[in-house]
Amino acid sequence: MKEPGWSASAWAGQLALSCLLLLGVASADEAERRAAMIDEVVATQARYGDRPFTPETLAALGHTERHRFVPTEVRDAAYANRPLPIGHGQTISQPFIVALMTDLLRVGSGDRVLEVGTGSGYQAAVLAELDVTVFTLEIVEPLAVEARARLASLGYDRVTVRHGDGYYGWPGEGPFDAVIVTAAASYIPPPLVEQLRPGGRMVIPIGSRFHTQHLMLVEKSADGTPTVRQLLPVRFVPLTGGH
Ligand code: SAH
Repeated sequence: MKEPGWSASAWAGQLALSCLLLLGVASADEAERRAAMIDEVVATQARYGDRPFTPETLAALGHTERHRFVPTEVRDAAYANRPLPIGHGQTISQPFIVALMTDLLRVGSGDRVLEVGTGSGYQAAVLAELDVTVFTLEIVEPLAVEARARLASLGYDRVTVRHGDGYYGWPGEGPFDAVIVTAAASYIPPPLVEQLRPGGRMVIPIGSRFHTQHLMLVEKSADGTPTVRQLLPVRFVPLTGGH
């Protein structure tokens, strides 16, 4: 005769169901936090920016699960509008800055973007949500390895991560429609300007570790002449490497 009570498979089923429910609650919670983060990003831009972020930029931020890009110890703060440590002395940028840099690039479907400073892979994922192909370089090998695995497991198959010094760009894959540098350089690396196509845009923080850095926008005209505009004071980790 069958024992009264639940069979092992019923228990397993119940357990699986509870886990699914828990996961559901967790991701609903995260979606809510993400929506609140976007409200804050929009409000910050309304205060300081000259125009609102595009709906595409905000949708890309809304689709990217920032909590999957930060270490578990700081996961509770994943949707706060501030930078967070990602190990190896590096940081993932504040969501507002990610939105701003993304928006400034004005990229869309089919574009090819070069990123210098993969870090966690979050900025690359946000760009990939705009249906662009991303080539991203990271100088700290364990970060490159981790970001590559993370992006692959999340299904970001249009992002290619390479370990290397981004100062020299990625000549084999250029020219790029846009270039984004997420570490502060003391001057604009000439190889990156070279690898930007005419009509393309680059955003890059310029300045030293102990002085004010500024976010710069480089626009390359149709005839290949670059013009540089200083946008706002920012704070980034330094661009390292042997140059
Ligand atoms: N975009 C990242 C944040 C990057 S923090 C994100 O979304 O998480 C800046 C990153 O630039 C760090 O990971 C740092 O190791 C990397 N970096 C610094 N100098 C570099 C260089 N010369 N080439 C490539 N990456 C560099």
